[in-house]
Amino acid sequence: MTTAELLQTDREHIWHPYTSTINPLPVFPVERADGFIITLKDGRQLIDGMSSWWAAVHGYNHPVLNAAAEAQLHKMSHIMFGGFTHEPAVELASKLLQVLPPVLDKIFFADSGSVAVEVSLKMAIQYQQAKGKQKKHKFAAIRNGYHGDTWHAMSVCDPVTGMHGLFAGSLPVQYYLPQPTVRFQDAWDDTAIEPLKQLLEEKSDELAALILEPVVQGAGGMYFYSPEYLKRARELCSAYDVLLIFDEIATGFGRTGKFFALEHAGVVPDILCIGKALTGGYMTLSATITTAAIANTICSGEAGCFMHGPTFMGNPLACAVASASLSLLQESNWQEKVQRIEKQLREELAPAAALSTVHEVRVLGAIGVIEMKDPVNMAVLQQQFVDEGIWVRPFGKLVYLMPPFIITPEALSRLTQGLLNVLSKS
Ligand code: PLP
Repeated sequence: MTTAELLQTDREHIWHPYTSTINPLPVFPVERADGFIITLKDGRQLIDGMSSWWAAVHGYNHPVLNAAAEAQLHKMSHIMFGGFTHEPAVELASKLLQVLPPVLDKIFFADSGSVAVEVSLKMAIQYQQAKGKQKKHKFAAIRNGYHGDTWHAMSVCDPVTGMHGLFAGSLPVQYYLPQPTVRFQDAWDDTAIEPLKQLLEEKSDELAALILEPVVQGAGGMYFYSPEYLKRARELCSAYDVLLIFDEIATGFGRTGKFFALEHAGVVPDILCIGKALTGGYMTLSATITTAAIANTICSGEAGCFMHGPTFMGNPLACAVASASLSLLQESNWQEKVQRIEKQLREELAPAAALSTVHEVRVLGAIGVIEMKDPVNMAVLQQQFVDEGIWVRPFGKLVYLMPPFIITPEALSRLTQGLLNVLSKS
């Protein structure tokens, strides 16, 4: 197939994320990816600044993950999880138990981040029902949050940036709290928790759970807030019998400088969602994890079980790769790598703050964000980044880097320099 044919079929028949079929954004045919290098079909090589949306923490085409996938392929790539179990799922669960807060020990493997969120919301509802609290069937969420694109996950995303207006009338209406006002590095101010306190005082008899992304709000704004908020939220949710769900689908596996972002606050949610980097970005797999007490309450309810069971649950291929990825991460002194990336991002992105078009530069862990004053023209900027030999995918006002942890200092400098070159021209 020639590149022209490939692009034509793609343009005529294939949807891309959040893209029009009438006037689609340009796409770049990619041939392969190795480590932090993405090779386009025309031979051009780009340094990866995105880790394929938080996922590919070890880089691409990693020999250890390839070997795990190959070994599993020769046994079985999939087998139904109803009535069967297998070593890849059990080994992955055992490894997760070693890194999770000990009380979180009931693991539900699901297909994607959005499905993990759906599962967490269903768990909360079934839990409240089992306790005879049928009226507690709504959710509280935080503005500028993002939890995925499926139906109920969408209902707990920011109602404006999540474009709920388009689905008004069909989408369940939840309670939305303001974005936490105290930034990650700033001194705590008790007024920041008042809206949650007030909501729980007034509506806790309707609320099944509060869902939030701990410390870093991702796709809804790349915003870093005080871990103290999580401590207060934990206390309040316990006091008002509202479950606390942490969505660590983006933040899990070291990205913020801690293995899980909840460690910044030292608090444990009732339900935790993980995904993305769980398989080192190799394929889709997620997990929703809760406590034995909650799981057992759910299963003592009317249904006698948890009502969810996807076809590809516990997919052996994905579990085998996730298991290898977890070991790789733990053996890889990832903390040092993330700290080094953080320091370099801070130093090398700082000059962007002087540009008249830039609102703010912020860095946490292996995440570097340049917030512009106005929304960027994605198509134009994307082409300019490719011309600079870097892969950066901005959205809205946000231009950001979250490179694979294995990136070298030289390659990271090429990323930051390329970014500055493009932004200083725009
Ligand atoms: N939750 C968070 C915090 C995310 O960042 C995302 C994806 O970006 C999701 C959920 C949805 O995950 P997926 O795209 O795998 O469905």
